[in-house]
Amino acid sequence: MLHRIPVETLGPRGEAMAQAVTSCVHCGFCLPTCPTYEVLGDEADSPRGRIFLMKEVLEGNLKPEDAAPHIDRCLGCVSCQSSCPSGVHYGDLLSSYRSSTHVDSARGFFAKLRRKIASLTVPYPRRFAIAMRLGQLTASLARFAPAGLQPLVELVPESIPPAQTPPEVSPGIGKEIATVTLHIGCAAQVLNPDITASAIRVLNRCGVTVRVPQSQVCCGSLHWHIGDSARAIKLAKKNITAFAGSSDAILTTAAGCGSGMHEYPLMLAGDSAADQGQQFSNRVSDISVYLDSLAMPPMKVSRPIRIAYHDACHLAHAQRVRRQPRDLLARIEGVTLVPLVDSELCCGSAGTYNIDQPEIAKELGQRKAQTVIDARCDIVALGNIGCQVQIEQHLRKLGNHTPVLHVAQILDLAQQGKLDAVPIGD
Ligand code: SF4
Ligand code: SF4
Repeated sequence: MLHRIPVETLGPRGEAMAQAVTSCVHCGFCLPTCPTYEVLGDEADSPRGRIFLMKEVLEGNLKPEDAAPHIDRCLGCVSCQSSCPSGVHYGDLLSSYRSSTHVDSARGFFAKLRRKIASLTVPYPRRFAIAMRLGQLTASLARFAPAGLQPLVELVPESIPPAQTPPEVSPGIGKEIATVTLHIGCAAQVLNPDITASAIRVLNRCGVTVRVPQSQVCCGSLHWHIGDSARAIKLAKKNITAFAGSSDAILTTAAGCGSGMHEYPLMLAGDSAADQGQQFSNRVSDISVYLDSLAMPPMKVSRPIRIAYHDACHLAHAQRVRRQPRDLLARIEGVTLVPLVDSELCCGSAGTYNIDQPEIAKELGQRKAQTVIDARCDIVALGNIGCQVQIEQHLRKLGNHTPVLHVAQILDLAQQGKLDAVPIGD
């Protein structure tokens, strides 16, 4: 697309934004794969429309406030990157644009409040745990909360598992073959700490020693994707320091965190820590990619189990990881992988999206839950805590009790011979 974006005035990420606009040839191949275009049917809520709107704002032809509703409705799922034949780096454009264009004034009071509460709690496990427990204690009063705060109220789960602190070092069992470091995320620590515990056990059984640096913090993607680059950079630098001192792989069990940590080079562009950000990012890998390269003890179930795998956007589209989790599940003798229609279509979780855009998130959550029901599977497998919470909530609302488990949890159960005991869903 031709443009007159004044790159030199836009700081170190200006070139990335201009490059994405230049590469777009306006073909529209991305439109049918965009969840918001699918739901709303409006060109302005499609990737092509948003690229045009962002170009207009960057050129100074359009006020950021006028583009804001459409840019805010973007999930950042980067499904459009997967379907773009011209290789447009839409994610680089969106994240850079959001951090350079502040338009909070275009949002309503409750939308701003919800975003503030989420960004001050979710990335900080202690605060998040307190907020969730407060939410549970006041659940009986939830119906009296203003309508504008209901999306937050609805996120409070019925039960919160006891906190678990993973040990700093968990030695590999038998002959040690490697050492890795693990980034344990923030939301998962509160909502499902069993994912981390399972991941460590599975790695240990493969002979891998797992280090969990104690000074690590949230990866920063939540702030980065809502345009708060200052806070995101602060968190990225803390992680760079926390994981310094070795070249061991940095594994993550959360697609969103993995994708965010791969964005450190863009986040830190023009910063004195840019090179360290690149080195850090080179070490990051999703746990499924790492495990796929290892031999594993044989796994078997005593009855046939049908598993449907949901592709988290930040794994499939942002990191192009699709085969490895499926191959890992297929190693379990007795497991059949069944297809999930529109497996790569976003479930509506997308960081704080279900807080920011509750109606669209709900629509996407319901659609995803229905595809799971239609797949008639025994278990849903995935690789991201946000998707896990979202899909589980929407399945339960539809009266369906299919277990929704992280791939690491499934492998852990299979290795212990306990996968057969997982209750089958309705
Ligand atoms: S598919 Fe790619 S090049 Fe075509 S309109 Fe979408 S972003 Fe632009
Ligand atoms: S990131 Fe997702 S929601 Fe946003 S334009 Fe691309 S496909 Fe649509």
